[in-house]
Amino acid sequence: MSEVKYNRIILKLSGEALAGDRGFGINPPVIKNVAQEIKDIFNLGVQIGIVVGGGNMWRGEAGAEMGMERAQADYIGMLGTTMNGLALQDNLEHLGVPTRVQTSIEMRQIAEPYIRRKAVRHLEKGRVVIFAAGTGNPYFSTDTTAALRAAEIGADAILMAKNGVDGIYSSDPRTHKDAVKFDTLSYMDILEKGLKVMDSTASSLSMDNHIPLVVFNLNKPGNIRKVVTGDNIGTTVKEK
Ligand code: UDP
Repeated sequence: MSEVKYNRIILKLSGEALAGDRGFGINPPVIKNVAQEIKDIFNLGVQIGIVVGGGNMWRGEAGAEMGMERAQADYIGMLGTTMNGLALQDNLEHLGVPTRVQTSIEMRQIAEPYIRRKAVRHLEKGRVVIFAAGTGNPYFSTDTTAALRAAEIGADAILMAKNGVDGIYSSDPRTHKDAVKFDTLSYMDILEKGLKVMDSTASSLSMDNHIPLVVFNLNKPGNIRKVVTGDNIGTTVKEK
């Protein structure tokens, strides 16, 4: 265990991370790879909670722009995260990794309801816990869910896996050639500079609860392991 820097983590996977190049739905080889990467750190003895997004299925904001009631559109988004959660569970279990899915909105036939103490017990027993259905509330995001669950379970860090971007930049590196990458930042920097890493609710929650965040590129094999074992990749965000 000495090689591990973070013993208990929240891994935030956006819906995009499961979609691959298509950007929509679940891409079987892609989700299989993600599951394999998770298995690698599971084998190191890391206690893993995963918060899955749902942007590959549906975004509440997009629904609202089409004229839907925002809260209703957000509930559809939360159901999308649950589909991703179940797909990830299936892939992890195919690799022999024991898992539990807990949803913030009860769906008893397919998953456990979110119960903090039970989630912690699962982690202690060596089960990966997948947190689905966001916070259970409209107007929130799965980034905020990651910050919230990390605080609740006493995670050592939040690992925010990005698609193709290897950290936090001064501006979007895909559209700005002069964008500069930061190795370290404070949560206050993110809030003050308006950097689009996570929404401000998620940033302030993580800041208030003193949880470090590591933003890294999921598309490079072995990166989750590198973060967990303390390699300086990506951008680390701390309280100060
Ligand atoms: N969502 C919500 N409350 C939450 C978490 C998510 O209403 O606590 C909804 C929201 O509509 C969001 C969608 O679920 O657009 C998918 O989540 P998110 O956009 O965070 O997914 P990601 O961008 O990580 O794939």
